Amino acid sequence: MAKLDFADWNPISHGFNKGLMRDPIRGLVVHITDGHGNLSSVRADFDREEKRASAHFAIDKFGDMWQFIDTDDRAWAIDGGTHDEQWISVENVAKYGEQLTEGQLYGCALLLEWLHDEHDVPFQLTSHGSGKGLGYHKMFHIGDHACPGPSVVRQLESIRRWAWYLWYRDTGDSDAPEYIRHFRD
Ligand SMILES: [Zn+2]
Repeated sequence: MAKLDFADWNPISHGFNKGLMRDPIRGLVVHITDGHGNLSSVRADFDREEKRASAHFAIDKFGDMWQFIDTDDRAWAIDGGTHDEQWISVENVAKYGEQLTEGQLYGCALLLEWLHDEHDVPFQLTSHGSGKGLGYHKMFHIGDHACPGPSVVRQLESIRRWAWYLWYRDTGDSDAPEYIRHFRD
């Protein structure tokens, strides 16, 4: 049961499965909303019974983060099944082709750091649903999803570095290489 302290808890009651996450938790999947609606409209959209889609978290362009679903519950962000039960999903308010803002990169980095701390998710990129680390929606090759688009996929490396830097700053991790220790210099 985890409601994260850096996210505002605004739960939904439709479009997910209670308690169906399964070990090992593989990592974080980055999405975009492909719109400019604020967090309350993202939440309201997911909370419609007929929507049948959700994500654990959403981050707006200012970096504000809402949590819609407990991390023990399975979102319907990828397939509503065997993929979603091993991945935590985060939506970012952005239209296709836009880059994530600094606040969104930081929010994603906080989530990846938490996943490392809680579930031993490695600070690495992955492009496979059977991998571990930081991934993105399109890597699952389900449907014709373009989400989150190449402009965001190119930013994943900076999320990875930022997350590891936060972890280094918080723990003094002796495995952190020099380029991570000086990420924010
Ligand atoms: Zn997506």
